[in-house]
Parts: sequence; C-alpha cells; structure tokens
Amino acid sequence: QLSKRLSAVAEFVPNNQVTADIGSDHAYLPCYLVLAKKTVKAIAGEINEGPFQAAKKQVEKNGLQHVISVRKGDGLSVLQKDEATCITIAGMGGSLIKTILEEGKEKLGKVERLVLQPNIHAIEVRKWLIDNGWELEGETILEESGKIYEVLSAKRGNAMKPYEALPFEAALLMGPFLLKEKNNVFFKKWKHELSHRKDILRQLEQSNGNEQLMQKKEEIKKVIEIIE
Ligand code: SAM
Repeated sequence: QLSKRLSAVAEFVPNNQVTADIGSDHAYLPCYLVLAKKTVKAIAGEINEGPFQAAKKQVEKNGLQHVISVRKGDGLSVLQKDEATCITIAGMGGSLIKTILEEGKEKLGKVERLVLQPNIHAIEVRKWLIDNGWELEGETILEESGKIYEVLSAKRGNAMKPYEALPFEAALLMGPFLLKEKNNVFFKKWKHELSHRKDILRQLEQSNGNEQLMQKKEEIKKVIEIIE
C-alpha cells in the first residue's frame, strides 16, 4: 500500500499520462499509477545504483516491465525529448527539485503537469514555477509519521493567478492554496516554524555580529513577520 504522502502525489496525476517519476527509489509511485490505471506508461529515473536496482526489482515483482521503464541517470536526462506528459518528483529538497527542472527544461515540451513534493524549501519550487510560466493548480499539506509534507501540482498557464488577492510574500512562503485553506496541519507547521525561527533569532542576538550575521538576523525577522 502506498504511503499517505505518495498517495497525495498520485491524487494530482491526471488520467492517461506518460508519467516520469524522477528520484523514484523503489518505484512505488509509478507501479501504483500503472496498476491504478492512471498512467498508461511510466519511466522511473534514479541517479544512484542502490535505488535504481530497488526500482527494477519492484517493477519486475509486479510484472510491469512492459509499461515501466527503469532508467539510471541524473534528473530529466533519462527522458527523451517529448516523451513524458507528467513529471513527479517527490521526497527531495526544494532546491534539488528546482535544479532538476531547470537543468531538464528541454524535456518539458509535452509535459502538461508537474507534481512536486519538496520535503523542505517549497518556496524554491514556487519561485521556479512562477519564473517559468507554470501555474499552481492545487496544493496539499499532510502529516504522516510525525512529519509534515507539502505537495504542489502545476500546469502551464498564468503563473501569478493563484497569488492574486493574497499577500504575495506569505503566499510564496506558505503556498497560496494552503494559505487560503489554513487547515490544522498548516497551523501546526507554521506554529512550529515560527517558534524554531524565534529560537534561532534569540541565539543570534546573544552574539554581536559581523555583517553576515546581521543580514541573517534581518532575513529571519522578515520571515517571522510574514508568519506572524
Ligand atoms: N521519490 C521517492 C519517494 O518520494 O518516496 C524516493 C525519495 S528518496 C528520499 C530520493 C531519491 O532521489 C533517492 O533515491 C536518490 O537516489 C534520488 N535522487 C537524488 N538526486 C537525483 C537526481 N538528480 N536524479 C535522479 N534521482 C535523484
């Protein structure tokens, strides 16, 4: 059975896609998508040998070799041009997700949907989507085994549309859909983030700083203001 986190990613994958799951590890997600008939064909990309072998094993175990191609390589380099129509990238930091998308831009030609699950720094992903004309069409926040995860789904369109009528800096940091919804998990996350940042600020204020430290303090203060 798929984890709650990966189920939330799968929810955003439209039907009848050719889905590339990048950083697939055990290929649980592409196996699920094919078995649930959400995806007609999938590619599981992995950069590391261990997870690549794990993905191959899982695909063979499910007898899905004819519909899931497991490939070893960095990011979107495993894809042919115009091959995928949906890309999922889950369980990595936002900065790495952003790098993978930026370096693989020429593979996005036929891609209609990006479903991204950054473990941290989702703001980096939101910024990349805006800069590249991808419109967020939905977001989910969920808790599983004591950890909080965000899932972002984007299509091509008006990248600024979801941010209209919202405080931009806050929506970029917390997610426009999540900020509007403000569910319990959202409150839990940002309450924790606020107290964490206040702790850091208190520690920094005890040391008299050089310019770099002063800058860091100002950055944290700005984020605290946004969250509060
Ligand atoms: N996507 C799965 C999930 O969400 O459960 C696995 C997440 S796992 C924490 C991250 C995986 O991404 C690792 O297996 C790692 O080898 C792979 N990875 C990291 N950087 C990568 C890159 N540039 N290209 C492809 N895979 C990468």
